[in-house]
Amino acid sequence: MSSPDIVKVLSYLVQESENTSLERYTAAALESSEVYTQLQLLKYMLTVRSPDPPLPTEINQDINRILFHRSHNKLFTSRHSIKEKLRFADLSPKLSIWKGDITTISDVTAIVNAANSALLGCFQPSHRCIDNIIHAAAGPDLRRACYNLVEQRDFTQEPVGSAQITPGFNLPAKMVIHTVGPSLLPGSEPNQEEISQLAACYTSSLAKLEEQEEDGNDKSIVFCCISTGLFSFPNDIASNIAIESVRNYFSEHPHSSISEVIFNVFTETNLKLYRQNFAEYQEREILVPIEQPIFETHHPIIEVSKKLIQDTDYLIVSAGAGLSASVGLDYSSNEVFDKHYRNFKKYGPTRLYETIGHQWPSKLVEWSFWFHHYETVSRWPASESYQKLVRMLNCATNSFVITSNADGFFIKNGYDPKKVYSIQGNYYWIQCPIKCTQDSFRPMDAELQKVKPYIDLSTNLLMDSSHIPRCENCGHIMTMCLRGGWKFNDTPMETEKKKYKELLNKIVRENQKAVLLEFGVGLNTPSVLRWPNEELASENENNFTLIRVGNGPSSTVPIEYIEKENFIVIDADASEVIDLLVS
Ligand SMILES: [Zn+2]
Ligand SMILES: [Zn+2]
Repeated sequence: MSSPDIVKVLSYLVQESENTSLERYTAAALESSEVYTQLQLLKYMLTVRSPDPPLPTEINQDINRILFHRSHNKLFTSRHSIKEKLRFADLSPKLSIWKGDITTISDVTAIVNAANSALLGCFQPSHRCIDNIIHAAAGPDLRRACYNLVEQRDFTQEPVGSAQITPGFNLPAKMVIHTVGPSLLPGSEPNQEEISQLAACYTSSLAKLEEQEEDGNDKSIVFCCISTGLFSFPNDIASNIAIESVRNYFSEHPHSSISEVIFNVFTETNLKLYRQNFAEYQEREILVPIEQPIFETHHPIIEVSKKLIQDTDYLIVSAGAGLSASVGLDYSSNEVFDKHYRNFKKYGPTRLYETIGHQWPSKLVEWSFWFHHYETVSRWPASESYQKLVRMLNCATNSFVITSNADGFFIKNGYDPKKVYSIQGNYYWIQCPIKCTQDSFRPMDAELQKVKPYIDLSTNLLMDSSHIPRCENCGHIMTMCLRGGWKFNDTPMETEKKKYKELLNKIVRENQKAVLLEFGVGLNTPSVLRWPNEELASENENNFTLIRVGNGPSSTVPIEYIEKENFIVIDADASEVIDLLVS
């Protein structure tokens, strides 16, 4: 089967929309777009699209294949891995609180969506409501299924407090229950009617699930915090109603086929409230703990990756800015800059990214910055994530690291410097800006030791310009040995560069297996690591498997590869994935 054709899908949707502002999305423009841009447009088009007429079968299938992968690239949480379960003293269903993304909970019969009364999902692309999040993950079949339900009825609005049920489509949950909660004016207190309506949302959702055949006598349901957030129901009252109405339901239905209820919270506020409520109920002995075996969290995508890493001949870690960001050295963070670089804020930059290629007022300030930056990075605390990663590398039969980070964190955390290729240069070296000779570079550390007595500790500035490093051959003021606007001298990285090239050739020549384990390689300079990794895996399917770990925009591969076995995407934070891979 050929891969899903996102350009065809998008071209169809754009044309069908007759929206003139989308005319710039010609097939050629779509073809050359980054996959994340394509996916964002797909999400937009599906959010605003009416479920009628239905999508052509072929287009719909391709969309489902794409969304299935997007959904399954995330780390699922099985309900069996949720710890601390309780039950009402006189009733048997299990209860728990779980904080996370409701579209990632697995092994459940149904999740509950806080719908609006039109029941067709949210049509506002920028709205971050749960209705939108659930529909976006489930795919267009969900809206179509809701539409079919609406069509069957003779009223146009779903009454507040009632519930409908549909399949879950691309979600890990088997079904979705859509309930319409009361909507309040922001800041107002709920009246008696609104309180009853919210309680009815819970009981009618449970009743709706009860009618289903799915999962027999072992049905499970995950409630979101209905009516809170954009519907303005006060969180504290809402969480009381949630627990009380569930309790009432089971008191009235002692032989219920529902065996487990999970209260899903998304905000810290709601997590605290539910926990407080649970604690109070426990004190009053209305809720009692359940002794149960603890199941380890089982993420299918992690299990597959672990096996690949175990069985591979070569483990090659490819690391980008996202990996160092996940251990705190975040180039896009204002806080990091405020905390460690406050003396340099007056020169313009507010984040480390902005220091790249920055026009400092003088060479003296520029070099003061570099000395300070070098010191800050070399004093950065050892990181648990890097150390775990280094341990994983050292356990592999053969290993190597290629990184676009200049910070030397792999080496700092114990990995063999001879096996690290810093493709963009690193902070260990400074070079002549005109590369007057091949060997006009020298170590930064020795330089810093020399000038240290002449740096003002309160301003981080060099006291006078005679201490600015100059080229010993031609006298030019030196620069950092980083790929940039000047003549980058990569001689200090030459040996590792050659080693890496030879390694790749050897893997193909000897028909061996390699895992390219990629962390935090974003879209800023995709030609450095991202595209070469994709190319390696697509051109040598039998030799290279790419495991791409990253958040948001970086967690994508071109659609033509999503169904290939040697392309794995894990849409999660690097340090979380490292923890899971080494556990
Ligand atoms: Zn919305
Ligand atoms: Zn020179």
